[in-house]
Amino acid sequence: MAVDIPYRREFAFEYGRLEPVAPGIRRIVARNPGPFTFKGTGTYVIGEGEVAVIDPGPELAEHVAALIASLADEAVTHILVTHTHRDHSPAAKALKAATGAPTYGFGPHAVGLQPTGLSRGGRRGEPGIEEGGDWDFVPDHVVRDGDWVAGTKWRVEAVHTPGHTSNHLCFALPDSGILFSGDHVMGWSTSVITPPDGDMAAYMASLDKLRLRRDKIYWPTHGPAITEPERHVRAFIAHRREREAGILDCLKAGIETVDAMVERLYVGLNPALRRAAGRSVLAHLIDLIGRDIVAGEEPATVESRYRLRHIARPIH
Ligand SMILES: [Zn+2]
Repeated sequence: MAVDIPYRREFAFEYGRLEPVAPGIRRIVARNPGPFTFKGTGTYVIGEGEVAVIDPGPELAEHVAALIASLADEAVTHILVTHTHRDHSPAAKALKAATGAPTYGFGPHAVGLQPTGLSRGGRRGEPGIEEGGDWDFVPDHVVRDGDWVAGTKWRVEAVHTPGHTSNHLCFALPDSGILFSGDHVMGWSTSVITPPDGDMAAYMASLDKLRLRRDKIYWPTHGPAITEPERHVRAFIAHRREREAGILDCLKAGIETVDAMVERLYVGLNPALRRAAGRSVLAHLIDLIGRDIVAGEEPATVESRYRLRHIARPIH
């Protein structure tokens, strides 16, 4: 039976308005709706008077202007970035220029992923897969797992959660049980895991990491808060295990290609998400190869053929 994910898609907001969503937390949503962003990027503001901004958002003049104008009477002291996709980090540049606040993040978009022959910042990302990398962002301060970033009246703990990207961070406000979950765990959708920077094994480990933390509420970058985070995280883990089992069933049935697996596993899929589904299946196959369960042509791509290595081997 299919895993029941308790999706949350009821989302009350107004574009361009910085609105309180919890004590000491405000959010302004950018008008960049899409198949990977839901209604748009939610930029969070922590504190009042002296504030931190999490995920300034895309390079969208209207959004950046609204964010800066909304905080005109306050001091932005920190700019935190969950990861370097183009719907999250590019506006950090304009916000920093306007406020002088330094940026904090795990690091630049992963080295080695940039296609040769393209200049920095020249890549829009592959359409139909995800939002693409922001190759320009370099944090002023490198933040690693367990590091604290503190203002005068707030402090956040960085939680490294690779998987969606290798540099993905969640930010926790432990005193209030809040976790800003970025794109790692969202209420409206599963996360896109697309190799090579997307890594299924890392993603599953990062889900487990959050499950054990017991934060009380998640505020993802896209969509509404997740008020039962443990239930949600468990459902995502179960969903990926179910998908993995489906892929193994395909292989047992002699289905060797990613396209044919998507055809069989994603019934009624929105055609706009077909390539993303293929990348997700590829992420599972790479994970299964890493665990010696599957063998495939090298390199492992969506065009390669795959087979089971040991038919009777247990999955977990
Ligand atoms: Zn992302």
